Parts: sequence; C-alpha cells; structure tokens
Amino acid sequence: MTSIAEPLQPPTRVLLGPGPSNVHPRVLRAMSVPLVGHLDPAFLRIMDETRRLLQFVFQTRNELTIAISGTGSAGMEACLTNLLEPGDEAVVCVNGVFGTRMADIVERCGAIVVRAEAPWGQVVEPAAIAAALSRCRRPKLVAIVHAETSTGAWQPLEGIAELAHAAGALLVVDAVTSLGGCPVRVDEWGIDACYSGTQKCLSCPPGLAPITFGPRALDVLLQRRTKVQSWYLDLTMTQKYWGAERVYHHTAPISMNYALHEALRLIAEEGLEARWSRHERNHAALKQGLAAIGLTIASQPGHQLWTLNSVRIPDGVEDARLRTALLEEYNIEIGGGLGPLKGQTWRIGLMGESSTAANVLLVLSTLERVLPRCGYPIEAGAGVAAAQRAYAA
Ligand SMILES: *Cc1c(COP(=O)(O)O)cnc(C)c1O
Repeated sequence: MTSIAEPLQPPTRVLLGPGPSNVHPRVLRAMSVPLVGHLDPAFLRIMDETRRLLQFVFQTRNELTIAISGTGSAGMEACLTNLLEPGDEAVVCVNGVFGTRMADIVERCGAIVVRAEAPWGQVVEPAAIAAALSRCRRPKLVAIVHAETSTGAWQPLEGIAELAHAAGALLVVDAVTSLGGCPVRVDEWGIDACYSGTQKCLSCPPGLAPITFGPRALDVLLQRRTKVQSWYLDLTMTQKYWGAERVYHHTAPISMNYALHEALRLIAEEGLEARWSRHERNHAALKQGLAAIGLTIASQPGHQLWTLNSVRIPDGVEDARLRTALLEEYNIEIGGGLGPLKGQTWRIGLMGESSTAANVLLVLSTLERVLPRCGYPIEAGAGVAAAQRAYAA
C-alpha cells in the first residue's frame, strides 16, 4: 500500500497555554471504550449522571443543565440564540476577545448590542453596566465574561445579577475559563444562563459545552415568538433528548460524553474547594517566581485570574522566538497575546490538570534558561527559588 499519510504521532506537550489543557489518562481511556448507541439505556444513564455532575460543578439545581455538542463557542452561541429574538436589546460587557465575540453573536441574532466597556486587561465596572442598562428601553439580557482568557482579567460577578434583574434583564455568564478552576456559583449569584467548555479547567478534550439555564431563562425560552435561529443549538429540542422524553435530535458525540463524564468524576473526587485552592496556590507561586525575574502580570491588580496568567513581555524581547524555543526544545506550550495585546503579552494557562507545582517550577526554570537568548539577560535561579518559597510558606 502506498502511504498517503504518516501514522498519527503527536508530540507529548505540557499544555500551559489558553487551552486545551492537559488531560488525565483516565479521561483519555474513557474515550477509547466501546461505543453504544445514543439511545442505549447504558448511554442514557451516563447522560443522567453527567447532568448531576454538571449541576455540582455549576453549583446549581437547574434542571436544564446539559452538555451541548460543540466547543465553548457553541455554548456561547446556544445561550445567546436561545434567549434573543430579532429587535431585542442586549447589554454586552466588552473588555477582550470573548466579550467581542458575544457582541458579534448578538448582532447575528438580529438583536441590538449595547456595550458596557472597559480597557483590555481591566474588569467592567458595575457603573458601566448600569449606564448601559439605562440606555436601553427593554433590555433582554446582560452578557458578561467571568474569566477573560484573552487578557487574564477576573470579572467580579457579585451584585451584577441584581443590576440586571432590576432592569428586567437576564444575566448570561461565560464561565469557559473559570468553571472547575475558581468559584462559579450559579444559583447563589443569581446567574440565569451560564456556559463553559470542556478543554479549559475541566481538563477534557475540546468538543462539548456544558450549559445551564435557570427558571427565568427557561421562561424566556418557552415564551419566544420566533423559532430559535439555529436548528442545531435549539434548546427546546436538545432538552427533549436530555430530558425524560429522549427524543432523537442529533447523534450525541458518544466518546466525548464519556470523556466529560470521567473528567467530572475526577473533579468530584478532588472536591471543588480543594481544586480551587490548588489553582490559587499555583497561580500565586508562578506570580512570585515571575516577579523575582522582573516579569509582571498584565491584568488589573486585584483582578488577576488563577487560571490564566497574562505576562507582560519585557521591552526588547522577541515574543515568537521565546515561544518557539519553549515548544521545540522543551515541549511546553504557552500562548501569545491576542488582538491589541499581540506581541505585548504571553499567556500562561494553569488550568485543570495543567495546574501543578511541577509545571510552575518547570515553566519558570525553562523561562530562566531561554530568556537570556531572547534579549533578556538574567541569571537563572531567582524565579524558581521564589516559587519554592511561595510553596513553602
Ligand atoms: C476558549 C474560550 C471560549 C471559546 O471556547 P472554544 O472552545 O474555543 O470554542 C469562549 N470564552 C472564553 C472566555 C474562552 O476562554
């Protein structure tokens, strides 16, 4: 046989970029077990367990808590297309790539975007949201990104639901880079619709988007005057497959659902609180280590994510040269900046399985080794030592 393609042989990387994160071997094994049909009783049981596990990680009692087929962006699109109809007004908080993407989807729904903005790297102030709401006649929803992966800004959500609800609007939250990495309390915070993705802090390959709709969002969905624009993402139909009726809509990606089930079981075994403090500890150690070699976190002080560290590139340092050296010589992936931050920042993700002390020490020591070659002369050792001290404290 003539070879038309090489055998699959991807390198084994340490994934410290903006996602995907490393995946536990148990999750990889779950993807290789035999398929069953998407209406097989064995699969329906797995779906039911997945719904319960998702309710646990989202900290919600919402019945409509399921995994949408597609990546995090499908979760974003599902929330917005199901809640918005042409002519509706939506306040969208924009301070990075993902708020910008939400605004784009809102426009594609035929709805009117009213922006509440902040500079990239900063969080959106409640006053800006209140001002945007006051510019609307009948705001349908407020959409906000909890963890802005493009900038490393950690948006506080306390009190935002009250603002939205007082104006008669729903609160929609992007928890793609927060769910499984830091507290996300859907019920306690009054969030009406929330979505995430599997490949960030849940440490599962990309392919599903966990989503939850509360009673107010469900009401809005059931009272629509028009059909949901997207057939594939129409929750009135997917709900009937995940719910008691079990009506065929589209074939569930079986192996992806196996993977999510196992990834969620791992989270339940670790415990949410323990998982959050692991992310906090590793972020703090990395930050101390970076500071010791003169590197700073670029996002707003007091609002810096544990899961995604946006690092300011020092003057004169070649961005791509450093990232290429890390990847090719050390098998470590870190991310570059996006949009206006391209060439300005590196993005070091510490998400899920990737958030370990071993990885923090590894990335610091390799940075210390590679930086001098890229135009930043430092003596190796100070960064790693500072991180060690942070762990010992
Ligand atoms: C990654 C990400 C998305 C999009 O997820 P995909 O899996 O790339 O589709 C949406 N929002 C945020 C905050 C993200 O980090």
